Amino acid sequence: MVEMAIFIDVSKCTGCRSCQVACKNWNQLKAEQTTNRGTHENPPDLSATTWNRVRFNEVVKDGKLDWLFLNERCRHCEEPPCMFAAEDVPGAIIKDKSGAVIFTEKTKQLNYEDVRGSCPFDIPRLDEETGQIYKCTMCVDRTANGLKPACVTACPTGTLNYGPKVEMLKLAKKRVEELGGDAALYPGEEYNTFWVLPEPEQDYGLEAKATVAKPRKFAWDKLLSPWGTLGLAAAFIGSLSKEDGVTDQEQAK
Ligand code: SF4
Repeated sequence: MVEMAIFIDVSKCTGCRSCQVACKNWNQLKAEQTTNRGTHENPPDLSATTWNRVRFNEVVKDGKLDWLFLNERCRHCEEPPCMFAAEDVPGAIIKDKSGAVIFTEKTKQLNYEDVRGSCPFDIPRLDEETGQIYKCTMCVDRTANGLKPACVTACPTGTLNYGPKVEMLKLAKKRVEELGGDAALYPGEEYNTFWVLPEPEQDYGLEAKATVAKPRKFAWDKLLSPWGTLGLAAAFIGSLSKEDGVTDQEQAK
């Protein structure tokens, strides 16, 4: 299967939140009790029952207040740090053949702080009642049946697009050229959900560190297993014989 991607053209977003509602509707996620915080942005954060939401960033430019909308969600990293942080529980976080990163029921067996801390974009959220960790699934249950993700289908302005990654990247790069100025692709080509931002990413509350993926976790427990210990011992003895001036080739003779 070709790698698929979601491309979000922020310049076309009107903040209607059809994507938020469609996500809740398709995934049967319950609504949250919200309060008036002096902004139209609601709910205030991602949660186990809100997997994508529109941020209403308020920016003052030339003395005028401007709203910069940003659809916040998982980036579906090509090399997902969250998956590497979960490798002690096989099957807890997997990569679908479409390129989507999926959290399964087995995430109940993971340490939530490890998983959330491993994500450079602070996306995973815990369901306190069940212990399961959630985020956007890129609607693999729809895309596997030839449908587009629910949010893309619901978007009335063409902000959300879904298709083969090569084509989505072409569209995104063309849009960057058309918009000109500070327009840029965010966070980069090595993600399967990416945005074109017309304004600098700081104006959207996106931190520069977000583009840096964390290194793979080192599996000390595997190293200390009986087979790992044997391997370590063999490597140590091998290094001793090399120190004695005996090379691998000489040993083989
Ligand atoms: Fe995992 Fe975070 Fe990347 Fe999503 S954005 S795949 S949760 S590391």
